[in-house]
Amino acid sequence: MSTHPHIPSKTKPAVFLDRDGTINEQMGYINHSCRFILLPGAAEAIRRLNEAELPVIVITNQSGLARGYFPEELLTEVHEKMNRLLALEGAHVDGIYICPHHPEAKEVQFRITCDCRKPRPGLVLRAAAELGLDPPGLLW
Ligand SMILES: [Zn+2]
Repeated sequence: MSTHPHIPSKTKPAVFLDRDGTINEQMGYINHSCRFILLPGAAEAIRRLNEAELPVIVITNQSGLARGYFPEELLTEVHEKMNRLLALEGAHVDGIYICPHHPEAKEVQFRITCDCRKPRPGLVLRAAAELGLDPPGLLW
């Protein structure tokens, strides 16, 4: 129960994590699953959040899709690997939200100025709506 005067007590907290450089080693574009390496302590940190019953949501810009550096199947494979590695340490994430866009994308379907490329709030707002979290606007 929050006693913070500006946070309504019904607000359901959640944790939003970046992916590259936060969960896995920063290694340029992750264009092969072998380039996805968990950072030390990341799984344990996420497990502790799980144990505290805080939803953990990954939000990540993946303009490599827009640039044609890797296909969506590769991204799926990388996230399956992430989920497997986390599960080995008793951790899980509750959602993975991706911005595949870039205004100068090579791939036409991703060539837009979107509302979800961080630092824009689209991914957080979509996760909040889909996972039944309260709108996070007050907490920013
Ligand atoms: Zn986007």
